[in-house]
Amino acid sequence: MNNSKNHYDIIIIGGGASGLCTAIMSKTETNRILIIEHNDRVGKKILSTGNGKCNLTNLGCKVISASESSFAFAENAEGIAPYYSANRDGFAETVISAFDADKAIAFFEELGMIPLNKNGYIYPRSEQASSVLDLLRFKCEELGVEILCGYQPVKIRQSKDKAAFFIDEEYSCDRLVIATGGQSASKTGSDGSGYEIAKAFGHQIIPPQPALCALKCSDPFFKELAGVRTDAKLALFEWNSKEPLMTVSGNLQFNNYGISGIPVFQLSLIASRLFAEGHELLVKIDLLPELSEEELSEIFAKKIRSQLKNNPVAGNELFLGILNKKLANVVGKESRKAHPDEKPEDYAFVYTHMIKRFKVHPTDTVSFEEAQTTLGGVSTAEIDPETMESRLVKGLYFTGEIIDVSGICGGYNLQWAWASAHAASESLKKS
Ligand SMILES: Cc1cc2nc3c(=O)[nH]c(=O)nc-3n(C[C@H](O)[C@H](O)[C@H](O)COP(=O)(O)OP(=O)(O)OC[C@H]3O[C@@H](n4cnc5c(N)ncnc54)[C@H](O)[C@@H]3O)c2cc1C
Repeated sequence: MNNSKNHYDIIIIGGGASGLCTAIMSKTETNRILIIEHNDRVGKKILSTGNGKCNLTNLGCKVISASESSFAFAENAEGIAPYYSANRDGFAETVISAFDADKAIAFFEELGMIPLNKNGYIYPRSEQASSVLDLLRFKCEELGVEILCGYQPVKIRQSKDKAAFFIDEEYSCDRLVIATGGQSASKTGSDGSGYEIAKAFGHQIIPPQPALCALKCSDPFFKELAGVRTDAKLALFEWNSKEPLMTVSGNLQFNNYGISGIPVFQLSLIASRLFAEGHELLVKIDLLPELSEEELSEIFAKKIRSQLKNNPVAGNELFLGILNKKLANVVGKESRKAHPDEKPEDYAFVYTHMIKRFKVHPTDTVSFEEAQTTLGGVSTAEIDPETMESRLVKGLYFTGEIIDVSGICGGYNLQWAWASAHAASESLKKS
């Protein structure tokens, strides 16, 4: 037992979503907990979540059936896998199964929040991310969790007998939690410095890549399309492959360098790693997913028949009332470029094909600064999912985005922060 004033039972490095939550969930009447945050205040990133409203979990974050070897999640609105790790070892599912969306909602209700359910996406009823941060901050204060802001740990070591950790020989603790986040939106504080701490303790870092972000594309028409938004279905392919890697629907946004919007964010969870490995990718976009090819072709055929005398495919009038005008210009131009000799009657097929399989060529993600999460991080193989304790260093724990677990857009990453905090706290509470 160390009685020095700067000795703690638990020190948590990083006062973000998972760090604050770990402190609250681990606090007992007798233990001393210190959060060390290098920013001048805690929880900066929480303030930007959900466009300032904080989408704190999603009802898709529920494991509906579990056996020893596999889990099944509730169907999410996107119909895609909710969590991504290089090891594909079910690590996230194990952690979420012990603390799912219902438990996260109950935790925040206990803190005083009323949840707001928007089609399964859960927000605070105040629709203010700052209120989520304040609830966490005030709970820490009430419980007597100590918070040290504006301190950047330089040297962290474990004692030779492995009984304690020392931070710059200034602070010490029995158990240390690394909750420093990943590398996305570094202006909020998560600058990747946590990876150096993990590496110094011998942990393997799966190379971090930006994810939940826009994709840059090489096609020449994006300047023309900037600002267009449309509901669409997107399929990501590896070059020359027939099987899509991910198919997702939602509101697509074009900007002057490529594609963005929530469905693109979801694709970036797979595309980001493949870009880093040098793969060439293709996105096929169905610009009118609500119509079958036959229905659309029939609509164009009817329009063409009625205007056949006026050369209906010279301009883009056939798209009026169907496509955004900027998009119609590009679809029309690209169609005529690809089929210069086609007869007007055959354009019903040509336009339908172009609209249902509009191809764009992504070449890279945008930077970490514009990404909502980090793909990669501390390898899940080296952490126990029951406790979040390192399998390499006893007494060392990881929570949140620093781990190689990335959730889809829609509350899944904050759910990961809360659930990993919960797993760690169940172990940390035991003295
Ligand atoms: C714009 C934006 C919107 C988002 N919206 C949502 C959303 O609506 N729903 C959702 O589920 N997810 C959302 N996310 C993702 C979510 O915010 C993160 O997954 C979550 O905050 C990760 O929690 P964390 O505790 O692991 O890391 P963070 O919240 O990043 O906290 C890490 C903390 O550690 C501190 N720190 C870092 N290094 C050190 C160091 N060396 N020493 C001391 N302190 C350090 C940082 O300053 C920071 O305060 C969004 C992300 C962004 C960028």
